[in-house]
Amino acid sequence: MRRGDAPTSGMTVGGPSWRYLPVALALALPVLVCVVWTWLHANSVQRQEAGMAARIVRVQAESILSQSWDMVERVAGLASGPCAELLPDLQRWGALNPYFRSLVLARDGRVYCSSALGGVDASVDDFSRWPVRISPDVWPLTVTGTPLAPDRPAVLVGKSRPDGYSGIVEVDGRYVQDLLNAVATMGDLQLELIVGKGAPIRSDSWGRSAAPAMPLYRETASGPGGAALAIDVMVPPEALVQAWSRSMLTYLPAALLIGAGLALGAYRLQSSRQSFKEQLRRAMRADEFQVHYQPLYGQATGRCEGVEALMRWERPGVGPVRPDIFIAAAEAEGMIVALTRHLLTLIERDVRTWATPPDFRIGVNIAPEHLSSAGLVPDIQAFVASVAARRPLIVLEITERSLISDNGQARRNIDALRAKGLRVAIDDFGTGHCSLSYLQEFPVDYLKIDKGFVQAIESAGEEAPVLDVIITLSSRLGLAVVAEGVETQRQFDYLKARGVAFIQGYFFARPMPSAEFARWYAEDAQAGAAGQAG
Ligand code: C2E
Ligand code: CA
Ligand code: CA
Repeated sequence: MRRGDAPTSGMTVGGPSWRYLPVALALALPVLVCVVWTWLHANSVQRQEAGMAARIVRVQAESILSQSWDMVERVAGLASGPCAELLPDLQRWGALNPYFRSLVLARDGRVYCSSALGGVDASVDDFSRWPVRISPDVWPLTVTGTPLAPDRPAVLVGKSRPDGYSGIVEVDGRYVQDLLNAVATMGDLQLELIVGKGAPIRSDSWGRSAAPAMPLYRETASGPGGAALAIDVMVPPEALVQAWSRSMLTYLPAALLIGAGLALGAYRLQSSRQSFKEQLRRAMRADEFQVHYQPLYGQATGRCEGVEALMRWERPGVGPVRPDIFIAAAEAEGMIVALTRHLLTLIERDVRTWATPPDFRIGVNIAPEHLSSAGLVPDIQAFVASVAARRPLIVLEITERSLISDNGQARRNIDALRAKGLRVAIDDFGTGHCSLSYLQEFPVDYLKIDKGFVQAIESAGEEAPVLDVIITLSSRLGLAVVAEGVETQRQFDYLKARGVAFIQGYFFARPMPSAEFARWYAEDAQAGAAGQAG
């Protein structure tokens, strides 16, 4: 295989495995999305559950604290008489309320009366095993135990009076713990509650998981009497993984189905692209392509001095396909080199039937891929040899894009072909990248000014400054100008007045099939001769 052939077979480079990559991706993508999404979903569901659990705990804790708050007000209000006198009230209040372990009275740091034990004399510091500070004057907090029940957590709410008396309410932590346990079963959760700066009260599930649990949710609130409440919810990683796999079981079949659908679509697209190449090959074999020739007006002679070859594809039963569309598709499918070679054989066939003089210009559009392939020079040489009888001047129309992306091969091709007498034109000049530096680097012969600039010539007397600059630039660079898309007398006159060498456009002539061009050219030649004679 010649090096120039490589791009034509570019689709199959790397073998079929590469071809099916998009199919595999189409299948894998929804599955991947499903895996990631279900993980995020499982996390968010767990977080929602944790949030709900934390809120239930908070509401309940607030209710207990609010009752304790009412009670401590009453207890602190009592604390100034002897214990024997106050004890019946303390005992009654303690017995009537389900949450309280005991109600305690203290004076100057010493406990002197308890609803559970009656008259006592103990230091409040006994609580200090479970850090308690009887100031400021209200202090709710959780502790891991109390002197009465050292191993059972409790919530203490105390209130000090200015005269040194204080009341303390001990709420049995069992209630809180039962609540935490019940809520924890909502989703394999681990919970803890802290009131004030106290010790945490935890659900039995706390710390039981094999792997360390992950923090999922934290709820903080300011409870009755300004008590700070903090509820932490953790979840063991295995519970998250379980929730994830449950969610995967639900959605994975759908993802697989979508993946299969996409893969099928990608496969069909792949095969239709494949068959587009086939269609082009078949169309070339079936001779469905034609070349239309658009005459070029030469300022020097005032007559047609050349043509641009423009490809046409008439599909039987479908109609004409727009050239910019099938050319772009052929470029994308790696078929442009084959198509251009076919075009050259068609031109060769047409040129034989013309009566054009030597040096009659034939412009051929060369795609970037072809320009930068080693196959260009032999292709063009073969073409030149095949049309040698008429000795036309071949002009290769190339784009700015193909010069800017050149890796050296384009430059070598241009040099080699110009050395053999061919000419090179920059097509659609001014519409590509605005880097003019390549104009100095690349030796070319013509600039074809894009029709966009020509259409700027609208009314008499009005200037087309960009066009003027391009014309001046060309003459400074020693390049001849071809103006494209000239549609009106005004545009034609404007360009002629500025010495533009060649003018192409509907105003002078439309692109036409070979036979029609041959007739048109003969008439143009006659008219020219008559004009000269007259
Ligand atoms: P292009 O090379 O710029 O060709 C000039 C286009 O302008 C042609 O369109 C032509 O019909 C059109 N044109 C000519 N005079 C006028 C005018 O006065 N006014 C207007 N509005 N348009 C005018 P076409 O034939 O449709 O070709 C479109 C493009 O397709 C070409 O643009 C060229 O890039 C590409 N193309 C056509 N044939 C070939 C080919 O054989 N090989 C390659 N590589 N590309 C080709
Ligand atoms: Ca062109
Ligand atoms: Ca053009």
